[in-house]
Amino acid sequence: MHPNLESLQPVHGRFAPSPTGLLHVGGARTALVAWLSARSAKGRFTLRIEDLDPPRVEPGAAQLIMDDLAWLDLDFDASPSLGGPHAPYCQSECSSYYGQALEALHKGGWLFPCRVSRRELRTMASAPHGPARGAPYPASLRPRHLAPQWFDDVSGAAIRFMVPDREVSFTDRLHGIQTENVSCAVGDFVLRRRDDLYAYQLAVVVDDLRMGITEVVRGEDLLSSTARQILLVEALGGTRPAYAHVPLVLTAAGKKLSKRDADLTVAFLRDAGIAPEAVVGYLAWSLGIREAPDPISARALIADFCWSRIRSTDPWHLPPDLANSLCDRRSSYSG
Ligand code: GLU
Repeated sequence: MHPNLESLQPVHGRFAPSPTGLLHVGGARTALVAWLSARSAKGRFTLRIEDLDPPRVEPGAAQLIMDDLAWLDLDFDASPSLGGPHAPYCQSECSSYYGQALEALHKGGWLFPCRVSRRELRTMASAPHGPARGAPYPASLRPRHLAPQWFDDVSGAAIRFMVPDREVSFTDRLHGIQTENVSCAVGDFVLRRRDDLYAYQLAVVVDDLRMGITEVVRGEDLLSSTARQILLVEALGGTRPAYAHVPLVLTAAGKKLSKRDADLTVAFLRDAGIAPEAVVGYLAWSLGIREAPDPISARALIADFCWSRIRSTDPWHLPPDLANSLCDRRSSYSG
């Protein structure tokens, strides 16, 4: 979209966690930036729960994430508990939308069935003259002819997107211009798995489009998915949102936060008696939005927020004992 048009559109941001466990401070930091971006533009903000993959979903986690966000005082205009004009807000309830999108892509000639299993793909990759490890899905596996009615019976097949051989460019608000030729990097990717589950790439694009999301603010680990998602937005005839990928938060040892790091969850800090303002102030400082890690409410950050204040895209390393370093500051919050 033309940059001037982008600025005329009312802003609609979202936070879209997968309920696979408790909210870590890394997720909270991303939520804070996404919320500040929308609220500082007087925009709307939506919470979507991405519970698409049943085995990975932890029962009760979605509610606990919502409780943690409320404790941090990050509010929403639409969410699974509030409802809203684009309900449902849980992906597990949105299959019919994904089915319709898949049908539209089929009509556009973008899809093909793939009956090659992941194991077979791995075996091909390890064969002496096979594609290299981590290589894109081999274009040679695209069927040359498709039966006209193939879409009517796709049992036992994954459905892949036929990636065009061209570069995709976009400007990330933090990482600048990004360019990728998806056919070289990834190849034809899966939109519906053999077990009938819709893939994240399809679901996220369909939901962002149907909800009218204008800006996608999320963790940097998804930067490499963005070019694929832009191809899907374009194939579906939609308008791409603005993108910003928030740098990762790592443990003191330099590892990605995982379920094992229970002491780095928002729930742990709350149970340790830390004030939400202490957590928000620390996260804002870690982003460069504040000069010092002093306690402050999320609302007090809205007026001064602007993207140019986040200068570094380096990962943020947490201290070895986050709760203790925040404890030192909990008594100093005055409003
Ligand atoms: N559900 C994804 C996650 O929790 C985020 C997806 C997105 O923001 O696009 O990592």
